[in-house]
Amino acid sequence: MTKGSTLMLLVSLVPIIFSVEADAQVEQNRPNIVILFADDLGYGDLGSYGHPYIRTPNLDELAQQGQRWTDFYAAAPVCSPSRAALLTGRLPVRSGLYGRHIAVYFPNEEFGFSKSETTFAELLQQAGYRTGIFGKWHLGDAKHAWPTRHGFDEWLGLPYSNDMDWVGEPSIDESIALRARGETQLLAQSRLRRIDRYASPKNEYWNVPLYQSRVVDGVYVDEVIEQPAVQTELTKKYTEAAISFIERSKETPFLLYLPFTMPHTPLFSSNDFAGKSLAGRYGDVVEELDWSVGEIKQALASNGVLNNTLFIFTSDNGPWLAMKTEGGRAGLLRDGKGTTFEGGMRVPAIFYWPGRIAPGVVSEIGSTLDIFTTLAKLTGLSDETATDGLDLTPVLFAQDDSPRTEFPYYRGGELYAYRKGAWKIHFITQGAYGQPPTKTKHVTPELYHLGNDPSERFNVAQQFPQIVADLQQAAALHSADWKIEKPEFDRRLSQ
Ligand code: MG
Repeated sequence: MTKGSTLMLLVSLVPIIFSVEADAQVEQNRPNIVILFADDLGYGDLGSYGHPYIRTPNLDELAQQGQRWTDFYAAAPVCSPSRAALLTGRLPVRSGLYGRHIAVYFPNEEFGFSKSETTFAELLQQAGYRTGIFGKWHLGDAKHAWPTRHGFDEWLGLPYSNDMDWVGEPSIDESIALRARGETQLLAQSRLRRIDRYASPKNEYWNVPLYQSRVVDGVYVDEVIEQPAVQTELTKKYTEAAISFIERSKETPFLLYLPFTMPHTPLFSSNDFAGKSLAGRYGDVVEELDWSVGEIKQALASNGVLNNTLFIFTSDNGPWLAMKTEGGRAGLLRDGKGTTFEGGMRVPAIFYWPGRIAPGVVSEIGSTLDIFTTLAKLTGLSDETATDGLDLTPVLFAQDDSPRTEFPYYRGGELYAYRKGAWKIHFITQGAYGQPPTKTKHVTPELYHLGNDPSERFNVAQQFPQIVADLQQAAALHSADWKIEKPEFDRRLSQ
C-alpha cells in the first residue's frame, strides 16, 4: 500500500467513524421503552420480593441483573387514578382523574380520559416512536378516551377491569339508582352472588369486550374482537400481540406498554398454567405473567433490540385482600389495595437495561409518577406537563440519590398520609372494602419509621413530636400553591 492510499483510507474513515458515533448517540437517546404493568400484584407476590411458592424466574432474573426497587409507589391505591398518574406524571387530585364516591371508571362512561392531559405515549409518538398498548386501559370506555386517541398507534385489550360488566347483576348505573332509592338489600344479595363467582370463576359470568383499535393513515379502525373476552387466553393474546408489535417496530424506536389484566380477579390462566403452581389460582396467573415477561425479553433479544431497551415492571396498586385466597399479598407491608398503608401503594418495581443499568437493590424512593419525567429526560423531550414527576435517571444510570425524598398518599380527594425519608405520618387511617380500621382522622397524626417498622405496627408519635411537626410542615408545603380538582369520576352521579 502506498503512502497516498493510506492517507485516502484515513480520510475516508473519518466520516464513517463520525457517523457511527452519531448513530450511537442517537440510539442512546432513543431507546425502546417497555413498560409491563401488573394489576393488583402485591409487594410480596414475586420470588424476588419474598414469595415462598410463586415461581417467577424471568422477573427474578431481571431483578438480579437490573435494579430491584424496595420503596417504589403507585400514585393511587386503585386502578384508574393510578393509571392516569403513570401516563401523565400528574397526581390524580391535580388532574381530577379520581373519585370520592366512585373510585374508578365503569362501563358506559360518558366522560373518561381528557384531551387536556398529555401522556408519555403522545410525547414519544410525536418524537417518532411507534407506540403500542396491549392490555387493560381503564381510563374510560367512550371512544374519545381510548388509548389510540391519546398517543398509541395500536391497542388490543380490555377497556376496564375484567370483573365489570357482570351478567345478570345490576350495572353501575342501576346500582347507583338502587342505592338512591334505599334498596340496599338487593345490592347486598348481588354482592354475595358475586363473591361466590369470584371464588369459582367462569368466563360467561362477565361480558367484558376485547377491543382492537389502530390508527391507519390517520383514521381510527376500531373493532370488537370478542365479547365476552375469553379470559383464559388474555395473557397469551397480549403477549403474542406485543411480540408481533416488537417484530413490526424494531426498525424505529418504540414504546410497548403492556398493562396485564391479571392478577386482578377473576383469576384466569391458560391450560399451560392452570393448576400448575404451588400457590393456587393466584400463583398460576402470576406464573403465567412471568412466562409472558420471559417471552417478551426473548423477542427483544431475537430481534436484536434488547441492548437498546429500557424495561420497567411494576404494579398499579397493592393486592386486593378482600378477595382472600383469590387475591395477592403485600409481604410484610400493612394492608392492601384501596388503602394508604404501605401495602396499598408500595409495589414491586424492576428496571432493567443491559449494559446501562448496573445491577443492584435500590432503597431510594420512586413512584410511577416519575416515569413520564424519567422517559422525557432520557429521550431529551419536554416534561413540562408532568407536574408531579421527578427524574429518576440519576438513580438508574449513576447509582445516585433519588430526587424523590417525599411521597404523598392520597385516597379519593384527601391526603391521608405523607412520607419524608424513612418517616411516615398518617393524618387519616382507614381500611378498604369494608375491612377495619374505620375511617379515623387523627388530631395528632400517627408516626411510623418505615426502616425499623416496615409493617407500620408501632405508632411513635408521642416519642418524636418534632418529627411529626416536621412532616406536617412538609405536607403543608406539598399542598401549598395548588388546589385539588373536582373528582371527574363522580360526574356520573349527577347524570
Ligand atoms: Mg388495580
